[in-house]
Amino acid sequence: MRLIVLGGPGSGKGTQSQKLSKHFGIPWISTGDVLRAEIAADSKLGQEVSETLAKGELVPDTLMINFIKQRLQKSDASHGWILDGYPRTAFQAEELDFFLDSLHTRVDYAVWLELPTHTLIERSEYRAAIDDNPDALRRRIEMLAERTVPMLEYYDYRQRLLRIDGNQLPDDVKRDILAGIG
Ligand code: ADP
Repeated sequence: MRLIVLGGPGSGKGTQSQKLSKHFGIPWISTGDVLRAEIAADSKLGQEVSETLAKGELVPDTLMINFIKQRLQKSDASHGWILDGYPRTAFQAEELDFFLDSLHTRVDYAVWLELPTHTLIERSEYRAAIDDNPDALRRRIEMLAERTVPMLEYYDYRQRLLRIDGNQLPDDVKRDILAGIG
């Protein structure tokens, strides 16, 4: 199973990705978590992206695309994966498909967790990552609307988009996702 989980900050995409990872026994790959870990470790990559994250901006596509290509070639990813936070621009989505084509595989579903913006903001108020300050949060929600929501069309057109009501208890969201996957 190869799944993409999409949603705003506070949408529960991390929670659902973890649940789906356990359910299917496949790795959960969160680009946000990877970037935050790189920042915490003060690595070269971490230094490159820390300001971008703190502002709630998106990291350059080329950097993310290279990262994901390497990650998906690791042996644990050969039988499937849950991508959390990637792709989030139309360009990233296209590049992912080109890359998967070269591996003779494809995305099964892109799961879009739908929630009202005010709910995203309320939920995120209780978090404390470096990119959870109010300005960054506002910017992340703008980026979601400007870059990620238009990308949904890419998966919808290919009949691979699952729209899920994210404004429910975590187990109910999971149930709806599994029902949608069939
Ligand atoms: P959110 O909780 O806002 O959905 P994530 O934890 O997925 O955020 O990502 C946190 C930050 O990491 C983003 O605001 C962005 O700066 C960066 N990031 C993560 N994934 C990507 C990506 N695919 N492309 C560009 N930037 C990314």
